[in-house]
Amino acid sequence: MASAAASPLGFPAVWLRHNCPCPDCRDPVTGQRLVDITQLPNGPWATVTAEFADSIEVTFAPEGHRSVFSRAWLAASALPDTDPDADADGDARTEDGKALWRAAERVEAPTLVLFGSHDRLVSPALAVPAARTFKNAHVEVLPRIGHIGQMERPDLVAARFREMVDKAGMPGGGTRLTPDELTST
Ligand SMILES: [Zn+2]
Repeated sequence: MASAAASPLGFPAVWLRHNCPCPDCRDPVTGQRLVDITQLPNGPWATVTAEFADSIEVTFAPEGHRSVFSRAWLAASALPDTDPDADADGDARTEDGKALWRAAERVEAPTLVLFGSHDRLVSPALAVPAARTFKNAHVEVLPRIGHIGQMERPDLVAARFREMVDKAGMPGGGTRLTPDELTST
């Protein structure tokens, strides 16, 4: 675990920071995030600064922001572990994560799976299991793109969608159906 300090509890620091539940970061009533991920300092550093019975306090550098995450929420949010040495059978995924991959195995519809080479929230390394898991997928790691490809390179992402629709020969050969045509089926 080379980056244990940067990624306490196995989560990327930037992802933890973006999910801070404190009232400054998340509207207590609506639950809406008040912190824009693009406004966060690059490569925040996270350190566990206190441990309680059902929660953990994490302090982020350089801004010094403190977040308290419940252990239950952390457990429920665990990402699939892509570290090949994670454990003996190489499968340290959570039960939720395993269920999602099992669901992906059953998808037979044409599927487009795009990763960003510079995504720090969802590892582009997951392109490998994604390509193995989806039956009928085009899986691609887009270069020099982070977590939100459709906003960073809308032209590129839209082109990939069009290619998928063309290849799949979807109803109407990719032409737009009228609302009547959509509801008459
Ligand atoms: Zn906060």
